[in-house]
Amino acid sequence: MTDCLFCKIVAKEVRAEVVLETERALAFRDINPQAPTHVLVIPKAHHADAAALAEADDGLADDVLKAAHAVAVQEGVAEGGYRIVFNTGPAAGQTVFHVHAHVLGGRDLTWPPG
Ligand code: 5GP
Ligand code: ZN
Repeated sequence: MTDCLFCKIVAKEVRAEVVLETERALAFRDINPQAPTHVLVIPKAHHADAAALAEADDGLADDVLKAAHAVAVQEGVAEGGYRIVFNTGPAAGQTVFHVHAHVLGGRDLTWPPG
């Protein structure tokens, strides 16, 4: 997708602070962090949202989830607890339509979310 911000990060046309890269996933720090650890984990292939990722049916969702957990371990938040969030669709606040898992940790996270 030529006009997708996160595809441009995958293509290295837009800079990002990458913290983990696997064959099919990329993790980079959110530009506007909401917690001490706030990393976005994406499939390198373009899928608009979690529904499209789930339908990819080739283990890609599994790769993204495993990468999200690996980021949590690497960031030192896995033991204390962390949150993985897929905002899916406008009502959930999704603003970038290349699916991404937010990995949030490093502080106590309240529930329910806003
Ligand atoms: P959403 O609202 O779609 O769930 O999350 C999009 C996230 O992307 C937001 O948390 C926002 O701060 C982040 N973001 C938007 N533009 C950029 C960018 O250019 N670089 C990085 N690293 N994060 C971005
Ligand atoms: Zn994209």
